[in-house]
Amino acid sequence: MLTNLGLSPSFGFGDRLGLATPGHIAAVRATRFAPVFAQQSVRENARTGRTPQQVLDDARRAVEAAGWDAPWGADADHLKTLADLPPFVAAGYTFFTVDPGAYVENGADFADLARLKVLIGEADGEDLSGLYLNGLSSPVFSEFTLETLLRAQVKYGRAIQHTVGMYRRLCELKDGFDFEVSVDETDSPTTPLEHYFIASELTRQGVRFTSLAPRFIGRFEKGVDYIGDLAALDAEMARHAAVTACFGTYKISLHSGSDKFSVYPLAARHWGSRLHVKTAGTSYLEALRTLAVSAPGLFARIWALGLERYAIDRATYHVSAEPALAASDGPALLDDFHAREILHVTYGSALNQFGSEITATLLRDAVPYQRNLEKHFRKHLELLD
Ligand code: ZN
Repeated sequence: MLTNLGLSPSFGFGDRLGLATPGHIAAVRATRFAPVFAQQSVRENARTGRTPQQVLDDARRAVEAAGWDAPWGADADHLKTLADLPPFVAAGYTFFTVDPGAYVENGADFADLARLKVLIGEADGEDLSGLYLNGLSSPVFSEFTLETLLRAQVKYGRAIQHTVGMYRRLCELKDGFDFEVSVDETDSPTTPLEHYFIASELTRQGVRFTSLAPRFIGRFEKGVDYIGDLAALDAEMARHAAVTACFGTYKISLHSGSDKFSVYPLAARHWGSRLHVKTAGTSYLEALRTLAVSAPGLFARIWALGLERYAIDRATYHVSAEPALAASDGPALLDDFHAREILHVTYGSALNQFGSEITATLLRDAVPYQRNLEKHFRKHLELLD
């Protein structure tokens, strides 16, 4: 049943080809996670040439064929403007992720108190000192000072207002939905104090959000494990978890959540069931793993195109792969850090050029594709349990 998932632990399976849901169902069955089988951003729709309706219909067909009768959700991911909303509402999506990243003022991190005061004045910012500078105490994260408060306000104030606007518009268009706020693609990490500020301001302004995706420290790159100091991340996650515990009204959401095997046990420990994980391109990589064995010629052409397109296609992603350091060819590429990132961000080019061949091959090899997906996601879900 396509429905809101609320605060249940949940797992998002983005599927850019529209063929992965049978594998996703096989993996998520009998786990504690409520699945989001349709999940696509406006950017992904543009690159894959699919509409919100097609994405949802493909997932629904597979759900019906498999006889999945438990709740599942459909996530309209990384919505940035008011104009992004209607097609997803019309198609029947249940989960709306608003990304106000364009309104985040990253430069606030480098401004001193005097400069922050000027910026707040220019923005005609509300005086929030009465709300945040008295009585807020927690043993886990430090208290606000005038400087950290103004920084949070300068950095996230406009993003919060944009989110409130998107939420109000959605409320006019639709009754009852899961609402996520994501600031995971900003330049700088979200401090626990800033996380508190965002959650508090949204709550104060009547936004009922079910999940929030901060930008954590270290690097959450696409299709590869966490890059950074795990002990530092663990300590930082503990502080973020203390913030979510202050509210108790929403889940934490891990974006670029695929393949972060070293992080899952930490996230499960800190948030228990109040957790949402988003994955997308990793299902495409499992499709390529299938092709690398069953259609090596096609896979070689996809890899060659990936190398050619990487410098351009990487522009809107956080990746650090170096083509010169990648494995040379064949199925080993799917276990190589550099190749995974290159293949991950060049999917739009590959689908544009070889889309029908890729689809035809995966339809023919549906069984190994499903098996690869099931194995890959079981590994994710077991570590999150
Ligand atoms: Zn994201």
